[in-house]
Order: sequence, then C-alpha cells, then structure tokens
Amino acid sequence: MKIKEIIQELESIAPPTLQESYDNSGLLVGNNDWETDGVLVALDCLESVVDEAIEKNIHLVVTHHPIVFSGLKRFNGKSYIERVVIKAIKHDIALYAIHTNLDNVAWGVNAKIMEVLGVDTHQVLAPMKGALKKFQVYVPETNAEELAEAVYAAGGGKVSLYEECSFTTSGTGTFKPTGGTNPVVGEIGSREQVPEVKMEFIVSHFAQKAVERAAKSAHPYEEVAYEWIALENTATLYGAGAVGELPEAMSFDEFLAHCKEVFGTTIRYTPAVNTQVKRIAVCGGSGSFLLGAAKSSGADVFITADYKYHQFFDAENHISIFDVGHFESEQFTIDLIAEGLSKKFPKFAVLKTEVNTNPIQYY
Ligand SMILES: [Zn+2]
Repeated sequence: MKIKEIIQELESIAPPTLQESYDNSGLLVGNNDWETDGVLVALDCLESVVDEAIEKNIHLVVTHHPIVFSGLKRFNGKSYIERVVIKAIKHDIALYAIHTNLDNVAWGVNAKIMEVLGVDTHQVLAPMKGALKKFQVYVPETNAEELAEAVYAAGGGKVSLYEECSFTTSGTGTFKPTGGTNPVVGEIGSREQVPEVKMEFIVSHFAQKAVERAAKSAHPYEEVAYEWIALENTATLYGAGAVGELPEAMSFDEFLAHCKEVFGTTIRYTPAVNTQVKRIAVCGGSGSFLLGAAKSSGADVFITADYKYHQFFDAENHISIFDVGHFESEQFTIDLIAEGLSKKFPKFAVLKTEVNTNPIQYY
C-alpha cells in the first residue's frame, strides 16, 4: 500500500491543522509515494522501534510522539534523535507522528482513556476556540442542492455530531458583467437580476480550503460570491482533555485501586476532596495546564501526568489530582491508532510495537 493512503486515513481521524503550534506532527521522514507492507504503531519512535520495523520489513512507523520536535542541524548520530532519523532514512522507513492533533479530537487520546476507565459518555474538557467559521455562499436556486452536496463531501456543514447542516434564504442577486468576463448568465454591460439563495454552513477551520474549493467547482458562475465569517462558538468536538461520569460512583479508595489496575502503575495523588468519585476529568500526557478547566467542570478527580511538586498544591482542596505517569496515561493510544487503521484497512498488517518505550522505571 502507498504510504499516502494510510496517511490520508490518519489525517481524517485527526486533521494535522488541529495540532498545537509547538508540535511537529505529520510525515517526518519519507515520502508519500513510498510503499509498505504494513504499519508499526508505537508511542515513541526509538532506535529499537526502527530496528523492529526493519526486522518485520515494515516501511512505515506511526507514533504518537514526534521523534523530531525542533530543527536538526547535524546528522552525525550523536543524539538518539539523529540516530533514529539516520537509520530510518538508510532503510527507507517513513516516520509519521500523530500527536496533539490526536489529543484535540473528541474521539482521540482522552476518549480512549475514558473507554479503559469505563466511562461511556464524555465531553471535551476545554473546547477549542476559533476553530469554527461560517461559510456563506450565493448560488442560483437550481444549483443549490449540488453545491450543498459538494460542501458536505468536503467536510462542511458539521455541527457537533450532526452532519449536512445548512440554512438557506431566498433573494435576488444582481450583477453587471464588464469587459473581459465570460458570464454564464446575462450580457456584458447590462445589469442582471437572478433569483438566488444564500446558503450558510458551519465549517471547521481545517476543512476551510477544501470547502471553498468544492463550492467553487460546484458553482456555475465564473466569479463566486461568498464570505467567511469568524465565529465565537466553541467547537465541542475539538479541544483538550475529556470530562465524564462513571456509570456508578466509587469510593475514593476504590477508584484509586481501579486506576492502579487500569494504568498498571504507581499513582501520585493529592488527598480526596469527596469521599465518592463520580465525575472525572482526564488528559493524557502533560495536562497540568488543564487543572482550571478540570476544577470548573466539577470533576472529583483529574487524571493526568507530569505533575511537579509545587503544582500539586494547586489542587487547593477543590479536586484530587492523580498523576499516573506520561507513558502510562497514553499507553492506550497505540491501540487507538492501530484500531483506527485496522478498521479502515482490515486486510492490511497493522502491528503494535513489542518494544516498551517508557524511559522511566519504578523501584
Ligand atoms: Zn505524550
């Protein structure tokens, strides 16, 4: 299979434009046109993971964390990052990262954590601002349906879990073609009046270009009248963290034991605020930036990782912070990526790494 087919699927799961500004998700090594007999999925791209790909004759490694974050200036193998890149290039192994864009979708990293904790219904903890726009386009009545189909196919008209959403009003469009134009309707030099409709769609910013392209190609006019309008609305399906409720409340100690079992690790935590745990907030990886959102969501517990000593004081008796470890909180992301790819390509070899890439051990 061509690498680009697999990337296309990964990017439909988590559009790259949803990644944070500091991130470096995407194809880091290799070319879209390369071919591979399988995909190897891991959390981190270490040399041992590239060795595993070589051994298994796989030419695409998909990881959550990008191996290259900032620019590399030398390639002499002095750091593990350089060694990974050199080895991958030498063996024609493409490296792809699906990082904060997978954190920022409602079905991503945090949904998977909720799933393993047994929470079925959950929402994004800190919905993204500025991710939605309104697209207004003016089209002759007879072409409205075709244009709407094109916008939907390009990813427009989605409001939360509702698809094919639009609003239409009728009116009259006027225009006067001048020299150099080639109008479909009307004549050069005379003002034309046409019954038109104004169609309005909500569009996520990552679908903006595709929607505009699709609308223009489905529109009969040489010059399409349209507007993009920035919205204050929050995008409920995109953003960081997740919050939801356990089907049954547990005592604090029961919930601690449940987390220890699920994450398979030692938990650093601040004391119970409530004796019962029902509402929980989660953020895979370094999530301390979401403590405020977790507190205001009314969660009893905030499960995340990478907490420093002084940051634990910020719990302020409003919430209990559970630090379950970075690798441990994101370990299920491997399953998430592998399940997504296997569902789309059931006959294709999607392998999960056998290497434990966690750099930390516990005594
Ligand atoms: Zn991480």
